[in-house]
Amino acid sequence: LDPKAQTVLDEIEEHNVDFLRIQFTDILGTVKNVSIPASQAEKAFTEGIYFDGSSIEGFVRIQESDMRLRPDPNTFALLPWKTRDDGTASARLIADVTDASGADFKGDPRHVLKRALKRAGDMGYTLNAGPEPEFFLFEEEDGRATTITHDAGGYFDLAPKDLASDVRRDIIYGLEKMGFEVEASHHEVAEGQHEIDFKYDDGLTTADNIATFRAVVRAIAAEHDLHSTFMPKPIAGINGSGMHTHLSLFTEDGENVFHDEDDEFNLSETAKQFLAGVLEHAPAITAVCNPTVNSYKRLVPGYEAPVYVAWSDVNRTALIRKPAARTPAASRVELRSPDPSCNPYLALAVMLHAGLDGIERGLDAPDPVRENIYEFDESTREEYNIDVLPPNLGAAIDALEADDVILDALGKHVAEKFIEAKRAEFDEYRVAVSEWELEKYLETF
Ligand code: GLN
Ligand code: MG
Ligand code: MG
Ligand code: MG
Repeated sequence: LDPKAQTVLDEIEEHNVDFLRIQFTDILGTVKNVSIPASQAEKAFTEGIYFDGSSIEGFVRIQESDMRLRPDPNTFALLPWKTRDDGTASARLIADVTDASGADFKGDPRHVLKRALKRAGDMGYTLNAGPEPEFFLFEEEDGRATTITHDAGGYFDLAPKDLASDVRRDIIYGLEKMGFEVEASHHEVAEGQHEIDFKYDDGLTTADNIATFRAVVRAIAAEHDLHSTFMPKPIAGINGSGMHTHLSLFTEDGENVFHDEDDEFNLSETAKQFLAGVLEHAPAITAVCNPTVNSYKRLVPGYEAPVYVAWSDVNRTALIRKPAARTPAASRVELRSPDPSCNPYLALAVMLHAGLDGIERGLDAPDPVRENIYEFDESTREEYNIDVLPPNLGAAIDALEADDVILDALGKHVAEKFIEAKRAEFDEYRVAVSEWELEKYLETF
């Protein structure tokens, strides 16, 4: 048995774990899980867990449905909200998905990310990624979610206006028990909106962490009879929820490749090429980083979300921001478009491939834009050569289909299934008649 796996078996004993949840995500980013009694843990490590892949969205057809889960012993964590009075506990392990023979399954988002990380590794880099997930807390009524905000606080407000600080504290305790290092948490700009930032980590750990984060927030909000949502724009007219993602590349010896002491922005040539790659592929990665119809209601001017494809070292209307960094290790770029409805594995994979493509082709970064781009008219945008992000999910899928680098990043299997599912979602939206239309037209015509 792998020594790491042995450590997990020891921890299972020590913490009196009776059930293990083995988790993975489907192509759309939904966490799936299989529960096994702790007595089966050793066998799960040595033989894997067989399951029927045909019932998972975007996985396989019935004829080839025998699949296996291979739990990753590095991902063992107790589920703090599942510790019971009798002292027993539940824990989870995140698994890679393989076919029945044990070969990596190309439709597994975790595999897609590992492939991106390997490409970076072959170029001598490891990815560090730090997300800033935002979310809303809403009241529940008869067990159903509403859009009644839990409080009327605003950015960085303190209690008593920020009624949710208790909930946030419990969420943070829960995260810490699961091994997170939480760096900051605050009330966000909109009423009922919050942000919790946890420490950056390598790409795979961060993607696992985002998936875990969403589960912890949901579980603990529910304990407080609140509904948490990572839907990007639950309420029109106020800020939506983003998941800004900070990215940098390090060498194997832990040196930050993105830092250059002598550069005006402290960004190395490599960092600028990476940034240029992300800008070039920005329209195509949007479908993955902003994968719902609702995502595009957030990407509009006026709500601190990006709309225009540009970077800046000073303002927050650009797609990419260069945050001020006090130490060389902290030099990084912040991509501001992703939202927390994305599949974190696929999103990090496409961001990374886009940047690596920029490095490989030695792309030049444009000059940073220091003005408020929301206020630019079209001709100024043209003069600055500033592109616009896709305005809706349909246009975003078109952009994805037109970009071979990002299609390759996803791989044929995932790209096909993803596009098929998202086209269907957009078509469903296109034919639906909304409240807005009824209000606007029903009595007018
Ligand atoms: N909520 C904003 C967004 O949609 C970000 C606000 C902020 O963190 N400054 O991206
Ligand atoms: Mg923040
Ligand atoms: Mg924020
Ligand atoms: Mg930010």
